[in-house]
Amino acid sequence: MTAVGSPADGAQADVAEIVRTHLRDIPDFPKPGVVFKDFTPLIADGPAMRTLVLDIARRYAGRVDVVVGIEARGFILGAAVAYELGLGMVPIRKAGKLPGQTLKESYALEYGHAEIEVHTDAFEPGQRVLVIDDVLATGGTAEATAALVERAGAEVTAIEVVLELSFLGGRERLGDRDVNAILTV
Ligand code: AMP
Repeated sequence: MTAVGSPADGAQADVAEIVRTHLRDIPDFPKPGVVFKDFTPLIADGPAMRTLVLDIARRYAGRVDVVVGIEARGFILGAAVAYELGLGMVPIRKAGKLPGQTLKESYALEYGHAEIEVHTDAFEPGQRVLVIDDVLATGGTAEATAALVERAGAEVTAIEVVLELSFLGGRERLGDRDVNAILTV
């Protein structure tokens, strides 16, 4: 297992290999032509998941005030990283799920259209936010999330994803934001 505080390059290479060997391709899900990158084998493996969470937490310790997890797989990773850092986690949810007053963003997906929301009072002004999700595809979800965080008065320090599908150009859409993918294909 990768230890906290081990050299960044080696740790990142180890973690990338863990991600590569624990992701599963599901062709034609949720619709024909899409290869779904299933990360349930990764979260089902305790030591692998722990290595991933500790790697992310180590890189952002002291640099962020709150973790944002994007529904739904971003909740799993985001909550674990927030716990490790001793920080709170704010959920970004699909429209209609959050009970309080919300801000909403609409955007196009690789396979459809979506609306996501955040509570208007989710952040303290100027809080530094780490956004976490499983996959960066077209970048629409991350872009809309960053817009929500900023409209709610906080700052996006970085966007961290387990896997980047570079052929979909999501990173370009996010401009000069700090985007880190553990594994890029
Ligand atoms: P996008 O907005 O296109 O970057 O899509 C990112 C969101 O959709 C993430 O929350 C992913 O969980 C999900 N997603 C998009 N494409 C895939 C894929 N090929 N495999 C798994 N999840 C995906």
